[in-house]
Amino acid sequence: MLAAYATGTDANQPLSKLEVGEREAPEPGRGFVRLAVGAAALNHHDLWTLRGVGVAPASFPRTLGCDVAGRVDKYGPDTPENYPVGTEVVAHAVITCGSCDACLGPDETLCRRFALLTEGPYEGTLAQYCLIPAKNLFTIPHSLTIEEAACLPTAYLTAYRMLFTKGALRPGGTVLIQGAGGGLSTAAERLALAAGLRVLVSSRSQEKRDAALRRGVHHTVATGREAVSEILALTDGEGVDVVIESVGEATWSTSLRALRRGGAIVVAGATAGAEPPADLRRVFWRQLRVLGSMMGTRAEFRELLAMVAASGVRPLIDSAVPLAQAGEAFLKLESGQATGKLVVLVA
Ligand SMILES: [Zn+2]
Repeated sequence: MLAAYATGTDANQPLSKLEVGEREAPEPGRGFVRLAVGAAALNHHDLWTLRGVGVAPASFPRTLGCDVAGRVDKYGPDTPENYPVGTEVVAHAVITCGSCDACLGPDETLCRRFALLTEGPYEGTLAQYCLIPAKNLFTIPHSLTIEEAACLPTAYLTAYRMLFTKGALRPGGTVLIQGAGGGLSTAAERLALAAGLRVLVSSRSQEKRDAALRRGVHHTVATGREAVSEILALTDGEGVDVVIESVGEATWSTSLRALRRGGAIVVAGATAGAEPPADLRRVFWRQLRVLGSMMGTRAEFRELLAMVAASGVRPLIDSAVPLAQAGEAFLKLESGQATGKLVVLVA
């Protein structure tokens, strides 16, 4: 089968370790299902894998990709056949042990054996076929195309948990999303608008700020020295309830100063550096909360799918290319110039 896979890691030139070529189609083991991939979306996680950062694959070559929507193709032995072969499904991308205290409690993302597809022993989804735990399959909302559905498991689930679980935002609340246009930030933007939140988006780029306004966000601010006073002016001097932070060093100090007393920064990435000054005095003086967030639970994925179906939210796709041209999509992901998700089409 055709697949986009990592041959190893390179911290400086990650794409030098990307190959698109033939690999053997996988056979599903017990508890797993083989999907005939329809569409798979790219994530920064794939670039981190190629750079050798994070949870390393157990071996190379390793098929990349965490996100997939496709057709049920074949069940492993003794696996409950919950969906007939041929059914179109979307896959929850988080794999957990299913039996530890975290898995039996309300938040299985705290499982000590938490892994994403492509991590540890698991192969990814950027291929004609991929293996998914059978319990991770969900019905695709009718309102979505298969390429839109493929955008949900990582970026949209991460944004959902950041806004509504970690950030505990309610309709009418105010959120600042740091960095405009990326897969996660456009996901947060769309879900926040659908939930009746007031949405502020920051970017260095005038072009990206203008595009965000055209997508319907309420306000944009230029990152830099003026950002905080602008945000305070837009919020009656109070600051925002929650900041969605995935940029890191370039925006951290603005994130801390843009928050209302008792507000929360929810962090799910540090693409521009992970070691900003902590400014602890501001953290305790204003009783700010800093909350890490990572993907989401199966229950949150179900809630996200229900919200998408009820609200009509559709993931923003920058572009979709055939699997054979996955390299072009990776170049665009690395450039940071994509607006929305990059998708690879397989069938
Ligand atoms: Zn567990």
